[in-house]
Amino acid sequence: MIPLAEARSIVLDRCPPRPPVWTPVDAALGCVTARPVVSAVPVPPFDNSAVDGYAVRAADVRTAHVVLDEVAAVMAGTSTDRVLGDGEAIRIMTGAPLPAGTGAVAMIEDVEVLPAVGGSGGAIRVGRALAAGENLRRAGDDIVVGQEVVPTGTVLSPAHIGVLVSVGVDGVEVVPRPRVGVLSTGDELTPLPEPLGPGGIRDSNRHMLLGLVGQAGFDPIDLGVVPDDEERVAAVLQDAAMRCDAIVTSGGVSVGDRDVVKATLDGLTGGAMRWMQIAIRPAKPFAFGLLGEGRVPVFGLPGNPVSALVSFELLAGPALRRMAGRHRIDRPVVRARAATNLIRRPDGKVHFARVVAGWTPEGSITVAPVPGQQSHQLHAMAEANALAVLPDGPGVAAGDAVHVLLLDVEHLPGALGIGGVVDALTGETA
Ligand code: AMP
Ligand code: MG
Repeated sequence: MIPLAEARSIVLDRCPPRPPVWTPVDAALGCVTARPVVSAVPVPPFDNSAVDGYAVRAADVRTAHVVLDEVAAVMAGTSTDRVLGDGEAIRIMTGAPLPAGTGAVAMIEDVEVLPAVGGSGGAIRVGRALAAGENLRRAGDDIVVGQEVVPTGTVLSPAHIGVLVSVGVDGVEVVPRPRVGVLSTGDELTPLPEPLGPGGIRDSNRHMLLGLVGQAGFDPIDLGVVPDDEERVAAVLQDAAMRCDAIVTSGGVSVGDRDVVKATLDGLTGGAMRWMQIAIRPAKPFAFGLLGEGRVPVFGLPGNPVSALVSFELLAGPALRRMAGRHRIDRPVVRARAATNLIRRPDGKVHFARVVAGWTPEGSITVAPVPGQQSHQLHAMAEANALAVLPDGPGVAAGDAVHVLLLDVEHLPGALGIGGVVDALTGETA
């Protein structure tokens, strides 16, 4: 057996970031930038109003209750040549460019519109004194010319996409998201809707792994189920190596397996596959190699569904994130507290126990095991949201600290929704 760290470095060293390509902004979400983006323009592009109201001269509104003549109006998307004179106000909407001479904008809520007198354009009374610059947004107060708005190595979020468009950039150099083929092997695997024959089981792994690839933000490619037949496995893998950036297989990597997958991969890689026994539980067997003239990593995951998932989380997933240019290649690991004993037997391996992690009201995380810790018990895995890391030894006692790999940070039990907080605030202010 080799330590997990050694297995990871064998895999990660051979999965470098892919070469960057120019990508339209709307296709670049979640991709990693390969070059910094520097703005050639200021944002906002011009001085404008932060509110709906009246543009005024600063000197006119040093005291409250000043009456001013309304002489023009300017809406968002228009502009005016009218220069503000002494004692004048120009009606202005949020985002409209400031007329020359504007020193502040009085919010509509602070203004009283006075009845029109004779043929004049109307007048307003400003209810309070305004400081110079009040309710103004200056050109460049979000982004100045020459500013690096998105550094190299950024994982593009929706907000970053918005920033890129705001500076007039319609595409970026990013590391493309890998296309990941997912293949299941085994004579017993029966795809839906075929009825199960004697000894048949459902091919749950392929659908789960396609989901894991998609959830990581990469492009899943379904390579189907292949029976334990060397020629057919070889044909599918060779075809996949031409249209995928990486291949994930499950099944056929353990010691007692019919050596169809092994023989095929050994043949296709000229004997360069690494067949590993990793000192972890579950997911001890794992295979790795490069197909397609050494370009396309193939991750051979174990067949047991929980092992396949854990193997993906610890090895294939991080390698794919590295190929995608990510610096953070792992899901987050946090220190949590064991709610109950997490017992295990010493066996020279690190155990990854399936646990439910949740927030306490004090803002720390506790974990409790789900019932069903064997590697075929996918239902128990699906009930869990984290893996507790139990180093070789007797386990972790209730109340003790334990590291947990969070598989689903978005749905941790105990987290408040904003709705609950808002309701509480409403109750306080009512
Ligand atoms: P193997 O690694 O091929 O020896 O498979 C180990 C166990 O996982 C066996 O019980 C297989 O039937 C099961 N298994 C293999 N592939 C899959 C799959 N795609 N979906 C569900 N179970 C599988
Ligand atoms: Mg098999």
